[in-house]
Amino acid sequence: MVNKQATNAFWNNSHLKFYERRNVMRYRTGTIVNKKHAYRYGFSPNANCPICPCTDSALHIFSGCQHTKMRNMIIKRHNMADMLIVQALQKRQCSANQIAYTDVDSADKLSEQGLDLRNTANKTLPSWLLPKLAAHALKASSRPDAILFLPSTVCSSRVTTRNSHFHQQLAKDKKLNPNQWEVHLIEFKLCEDTRPDPQLQKAKAQHSKLIANLNRQGYREVKLHVKLVGAMETMHLQRLYRQISGGPLSGLL
Ligand SMILES: [Zn+2]
Repeated sequence: MVNKQATNAFWNNSHLKFYERRNVMRYRTGTIVNKKHAYRYGFSPNANCPICPCTDSALHIFSGCQHTKMRNMIIKRHNMADMLIVQALQKRQCSANQIAYTDVDSADKLSEQGLDLRNTANKTLPSWLLPKLAAHALKASSRPDAILFLPSTVCSSRVTTRNSHFHQQLAKDKKLNPNQWEVHLIEFKLCEDTRPDPQLQKAKAQHSKLIANLNRQGYREVKLHVKLVGAMETMHLQRLYRQISGGPLSGLL
């Protein structure tokens, strides 16, 4: 499930110093120094993180710390990954104009990156997505990192005059015929490098209600693509970009 090439790329990355490679291995073998270990071996009176009220651990250091600065760095990293996902989807010929929703930090940031997504909803799910759902239920719904609409009537990999962008169809008819569209939900999650399954299950549970609502709406197909990247692998976000922008859509899984 985790990309083995990306996972092990740190061995051959000439930009990494010896101690950085050593830290990767320490993290993955559960031997990186933290207060949980210090407490266990009697070197500390408690297992608390030195800068936030949570229990310290290797994963806590890389993606769980609640200290404002750490939290901001973690959010920034997630936003960076979201931005790469949107850029990669825009690069794909079949999906360039089929992005219905993004969850990136701001529209300004998108335009800074040269992304023109004026017709794409950001941060708030568009009401046309689930017209049968009450406004308060839509507001309370889970929001994936991106939602892609692909036509199911003709080959999904090509956009032709018969196979128009959903934006054009929406502008013309003010609604979509759900039966003619596939909905692809894209969720990015950081996980433990050696134990990705809990985050995969979390993503599935997080969006199960949204998927049920989309199915109830009558869309031809609803698929959740969970992109897992180990917390230590974040140096390889560019690989994530290449994988999404170049490979088949099934490669997102
Ligand atoms: Zn902390």
